Amino acid sequence: MKGHTHIAGGLLFAFLFNVPGYAIPMAVIGSTFPDIDLSFTYYIPPKGVKTTLFNTHRGITHHPAIVVFLFLLWVFLMNKYPQYKFYWDFLYGFWVGYLSHLVLDAMTKKGIPVGLGYYPRFSFKLMKTGGTGEKFVFGLIVVLLIGVIFLKANPQLVENVFSSFKGLIKVS
Ligand SMILES: [Zn+2]
Repeated sequence: MKGHTHIAGGLLFAFLFNVPGYAIPMAVIGSTFPDIDLSFTYYIPPKGVKTTLFNTHRGITHHPAIVVFLFLLWVFLMNKYPQYKFYWDFLYGFWVGYLSHLVLDAMTKKGIPVGLGYYPRFSFKLMKTGGTGEKFVFGLIVVLLIGVIFLKANPQLVENVFSSFKGLIKVS
């Protein structure tokens, strides 16, 4: 998955998970953060080097355990120090972005690690990074994003649609 797809995905998740506006930048950071491993690991390890969670792209930074840990940390802080919710919202935003990254990467063939090593890996096997599938997903995310932002900006519209549906049901 490319950076722009992850940023779009992070924004979409931020709106779907009700990340407060001031914490949305953290969702964007979280949505691109796991790929920092590109700067300190092999993209493809040289021959003879065993791939591990710590020397290859999509290793430890792409592990669902991190998502679980961030979530539990947020739950803990919210319960222990609810008066600082404002600060924990930034962690929540980061978590939502991080989650979106792993969900998107899990759609590609390469997948994400789910065990104690580079293997086993989990993948929905829907597309290849940078291929037509990813372009399609990017387009889809942008359309959904525009839709969600529009609906959030017009809560009255959503209510009107619901009540007219109710009206239709009553009439028939
Ligand atoms: Zn990634």
